[in-house]
Amino acid sequence: MIYDYLIVGAGFSGATYARMATNRGKSVLIIDKRDHIGGNSYDFINKEGLFVQKYGPHIFHTSSKIVWDFLSRYSKWNDYEHRVLVNLGNKEVYLPINIETMEKLYDRQFTPENMKEFLNSKKINIKNIENSRDVVLSQVGKELYNYFFKNYTKKQWGVYPEELDASVLQRIPVRFNRDTRYFEDKYQGIPIDGFTELFEKLLDNKNITVKLNTDYKDIIKEINFKKMIFTGPIDSFFDFKYGKLPYRSIDFEFKELNEEFFQSNSVINYPNDYDYTRITEFKHFYFQKNKQTIICYEYPKSDGDPFYPIPRQENRNLYLKYKRLADNLDNVFFTGRLAEYKYINMDKAVENALNLFHKLES
Ligand code: FAD
Ligand code: UDP
Repeated sequence: MIYDYLIVGAGFSGATYARMATNRGKSVLIIDKRDHIGGNSYDFINKEGLFVQKYGPHIFHTSSKIVWDFLSRYSKWNDYEHRVLVNLGNKEVYLPINIETMEKLYDRQFTPENMKEFLNSKKINIKNIENSRDVVLSQVGKELYNYFFKNYTKKQWGVYPEELDASVLQRIPVRFNRDTRYFEDKYQGIPIDGFTELFEKLLDNKNITVKLNTDYKDIIKEINFKKMIFTGPIDSFFDFKYGKLPYRSIDFEFKELNEEFFQSNSVINYPNDYDYTRITEFKHFYFQKNKQTIICYEYPKSDGDPFYPIPRQENRNLYLKYKRLADNLDNVFFTGRLAEYKYINMDKAVENALNLFHKLES
């Protein structure tokens, strides 16, 4: 058989493309080297009946109605709104910095106006914002930078914020209101039966064949296909011809506990203490009632599964060399966090896959 598409990777990028293609009557073989679909968004239910996210905390959020409507065909959503507490040793406060954060930190009341005045007196005037340190210093000054960002970033990325593109810390706004949510997007939530169930539905079509536990390199010679959509790491596709692109990885350490709740919030960050960056208690995401709970510690590291492309100019330059090779192939197309070497969220992965589909098939 000749497949219209061979899709490598069954995460949001690959699964979105697969569904769009089969909706147009195309035949698809989607393969993943892991033993499950869902990519890094994969979740499962453990023996106690609790949802576990195998690759750390995943919360869906988007401002794109197109993306939301597309995924909503395959799942309903709960109305979870994400909040992140940061443990600063003697206090726990919400991030992004907002009026409530300031009041708890400084033990006084703030209005939007005097929060602005206060931060104006602290922030540092930086003409050209060149990196993530500049982003924060020019918004809130050194004290808050040291509390929240400096050491967390070092743990997470292995480098301090001045070594990272501005885009990394631009992910986290400063708010002059009392909105304590982590994301402001109009649409947010967790798929009501979990992410993996959403993927099951996305891929449930007679024209989609799913093959797991398979590296595409091991079977590529045996498969006939017209086009390939590649969502794995772009450097691995080209056998690291120009050298390895750097990625950040994480060790996830899970603990099952014989208690109802371990912590008051789904995610608590630890910027300045311990080797881990954050602890997640998944049952908050899924509103589960259970006598047991399961938590996850994240220990960032440089080797291992590639989870985070590292946004720095020198890495982008290397990526662009690979992209030039990719652009010269006429039947292989690259989309996704690893294939485009971009620190993107799930919604952007879906959006990019939808756009690629429209480009190739319209
Ligand atoms: P992936 O999900 O990585 O899928 C790529 C797939 O390709 C993988 O399953 C891999 O096994 C497969 N593959 C690679 N090479 C091969 C090969 N040679 N042969 C066969 N298969 C191969 N986003 C959010 O929107 N909200 C969040 O809260 C959030 N939290 C996150 C927390 C963590 C710890 C991490 C790491 C990411 C988080 N993300 C979050 C980002 C989200 O995981 C990604 O945006 C999303 O997974 C990208 O989907 P993808 O399909 O491009 O890549
Ligand atoms: N960050 C930080 N302190 C925090 C939370 C985040 O310094 O308490 C920085 C850190 O560099 C992190 C980045 O902001 O990598 C983006 O945070 P986000 O929560 O979006 O990261 P993700 O969920 O993608 O790991």
